[in-house]
Amino acid sequence: MSDLRLLDTLSGETRPLVPLDGKTVRIYSCGPTVYGPAHIGNFRSFLFADLLVRYLRWRGYQVRWVMNITDIDDKIIKGAEAAGETTRALADRYLARFLDDAETLRMTRPDVLPRATEHIEPIVGLIQTLMDLGHAYRTDDGSIFFRIASWPSYGRLARLDPEQMRVGERVEADEYAKDDVRDFALWKAAKPGEPSWSTSIGQGRPGWHIECSAMSIEQLGPSFDIHTGGVDLIFPHHEDEIAQSEAATGQAFVRTWLHCAHLRSSGSKMAKSTGNIARVDDLLGSGVSPRALRYALLAVHYRTGLDYSDDSLAAAAAALARLDTLVLALESYRQDGPGDPGLDGALRGARDGFTAALDDDLNISAALAAVFDLVRDLNRRIEARSMSSDDAMRALDTLRDLDRVLGVLEDPVEDALDPGLQTLLDQRAAARAARDWAASDRLRDELADRGVAVEDTRDGQRWRRIALTTRG
Ligand SMILES: [Zn+2]
Repeated sequence: MSDLRLLDTLSGETRPLVPLDGKTVRIYSCGPTVYGPAHIGNFRSFLFADLLVRYLRWRGYQVRWVMNITDIDDKIIKGAEAAGETTRALADRYLARFLDDAETLRMTRPDVLPRATEHIEPIVGLIQTLMDLGHAYRTDDGSIFFRIASWPSYGRLARLDPEQMRVGERVEADEYAKDDVRDFALWKAAKPGEPSWSTSIGQGRPGWHIECSAMSIEQLGPSFDIHTGGVDLIFPHHEDEIAQSEAATGQAFVRTWLHCAHLRSSGSKMAKSTGNIARVDDLLGSGVSPRALRYALLAVHYRTGLDYSDDSLAAAAAALARLDTLVLALESYRQDGPGDPGLDGALRGARDGFTAALDDDLNISAALAAVFDLVRDLNRRIEARSMSSDDAMRALDTLRDLDRVLGVLEDPVEDALDPGLQTLLDQRAAARAARDWAASDRLRDELADRGVAVEDTRDGQRWRRIALTTRG
């Protein structure tokens, strides 16, 4: 059906993507734990899933994309206690913040954003099934654990030897007594002062891992196509998801696992515990453009570590400026006469190169190289005046079409100037026609002060917003 191939972390194989149900690619992404603002390391992983979803849709696939919201866990409970508010209020606040940041970074909104606390029933159902099948057991305090010894293939995703796993090293230590140190909590018995739910398996709250199994199975079925997350989720989170899901349903859980490498900053992984985190609104407040930030987070292949720095951000802003300049040049290009006979081949070549690159396990670097080959090519054709006005519009259509995947170009509707600025621009055009250079220069300065740079070309004035590429 397609040439699109993705590298599956579990098997280590690169496989063609063929939707399991023959029509819709079903994707689950581990989403944020809403106990504080997400940092851009988190957003790298979310934006990689966004790139995947955008590309699949652009390629003509039907996609159903689910991203969970973890709105109950130890950190949320602690945070709410410290802030003197309910866990629900704290989670709502940071969920709203996450959605704002995601929109700022132009992340496609997932089709469903299920919250753990709103899926207690399917979570309880799944835990009950695991107990019925002998894969889970209850401890004295009423908590319920998954019995890793009952699941021989445990450790396959992370390539672990289950016998070698020891508590305190690679297995998260749990506060609850359990049969085997490797076992993990499915259900945590209620503790005084903590939120809990009264259910058929007792009073308590779900562990973290089980929510992703329960909500993915509920939203996408027992077997689905793609599961994404950061590499730090491979173990134990995704390992646990596989064990719980497959033990309960008896079916293969996920066809293809995609894991995004870390974002590094100042030489180490960006993490709250390391303290080297950067948040979206802090960066925007310091003058970074959201489009440049998106570009910087997208432009490196998802399985490659990304070094984030002022330099990488500046490189992203410079790349965007080249795209913006070309878009403006094409928009204002006017040339009567015959078309450029070489143009269609160039546009087709760029599109083919872009597609072949992304088909190859989302090779974004090669896809961007195809885009910038086209940028150079079109700049040459503009310089040579070889295109007709119609050609320029077709070239622009191609750029905008490729950008449906990238999501970095300025939205064309936002490009209209407000009437006051347009009046200044018109007055300047009149001044130039009257060869009144002093007035023309004065109007240029006035426009610059208001964030609009004007350039004079053979096609007349061309303007761009100064603030859009590198503010500060
Ligand atoms: Zn998850």
